[in-house]
Amino acid sequence: VGLTVKEASDRYANFMRNPAPSGPNVCPRCWTFKKPERTHCYSCDWIVKSPNHHCDIVVPITYSVDGEQMHTELAGYKNALAADVRRHHLVGITAVLWRHLQAHEPCVASAVGVESFPVVTTVPSKTVAADDSRGQLRRMVGNWCRHTKKRYRRALRPTDRSTGEREFESDRYEADAGDVSGRAVLLIDDTWTTGVSAEAAAHALKQAGATHVACVPIGRHVHRVVKDDDRNGKLLDKLPSRFDWDACAVGPH
Ligand SMILES: [Zn+2]
Ligand SMILES: [Zn+2]
Repeated sequence: VGLTVKEASDRYANFMRNPAPSGPNVCPRCWTFKKPERTHCYSCDWIVKSPNHHCDIVVPITYSVDGEQMHTELAGYKNALAADVRRHHLVGITAVLWRHLQAHEPCVASAVGVESFPVVTTVPSKTVAADDSRGQLRRMVGNWCRHTKKRYRRALRPTDRSTGEREFESDRYEADAGDVSGRAVLLIDDTWTTGVSAEAAAHALKQAGATHVACVPIGRHVHRVVKDDDRNGKLLDKLPSRFDWDACAVGPH
């Protein structure tokens, strides 16, 4: 007996938080927190200066606060030791993605100026070996989430030219032009930390001819305390404590 998407996702409202409304404390690119005197957060600062950034928009579903429940879920669906625990998290996170995209994918599309996304793909792992052995995100978007399943293509592969640095590498991935050329692509990732993986993925998609790339990470990773500064935690605590499935980060309905 299968759970409905609503049943499987409802409990997440207790610990997910909607992206903060735009303002002087919020990064206009990735929705994490920033100092008011900066235009972007620390991670996005260099991405926006680089000519190689290629996500046309980034719209995380929620925050993944380091060490808290959503972080546990997003790590657990891949890394939990017990298969039934991984599966439990995978079922739940799939339902979160499905429910969110059903409501808000049209908003993301209109925010980048397209009717729809004919292709959906996922950000690969850094290396070929890791990408082949870790198929959980592909299974989520390409098999389990019926909202995306039919449009899913495994369009991206690691090149194995990554040096493993946590920096943007334009040749980290390559994309199959047959999958994406001339099409708008919805790019899904589980967690956005610095954005360098998703940006490299978007770069490869554009090189292969994708017309638009919109990235929807499930969680925007954020630390409550950075170098003894707890302003992120304070800003998080100002957000409504219960997730609103109808609230839209990119526009009114
Ligand atoms: Zn940012
Ligand atoms: Zn919306």
